[in-house]
Amino acid sequence: MNPKKPKFITIHLLRLKLTDEPSCPFCGANEDTNIHYIFHCPHFMNVRNFPKKRFPSTTMQNQQNRIAISCLVDFISRSNRFGDPMMQN
Ligand SMILES: [Zn+2]
Repeated sequence: MNPKKPKFITIHLLRLKLTDEPSCPFCGANEDTNIHYIFHCPHFMNVRNFPKKRFPSTTMQNQQNRIAISCLVDFISRSNRFGDPMMQN
């Protein structure tokens, strides 16, 4: 990851008035949101490993929840967007 790019989701920085630029620093999409980062940003395409089958959100069972959360945590870790949580940087 380019160290000059912000680690935080820029739409949140915009709401906190810490930036005036909401675009994705990785791909240039108009808004860098949670959904963009997790599901759509092409920069992180190679570290996304979500199940092909979509879980119906209204009927997810505990096992499906565990799989979905595990995939999300794995993606966040592999994307290295937020750095090493054990390092205070
Ligand atoms: Zn992007």
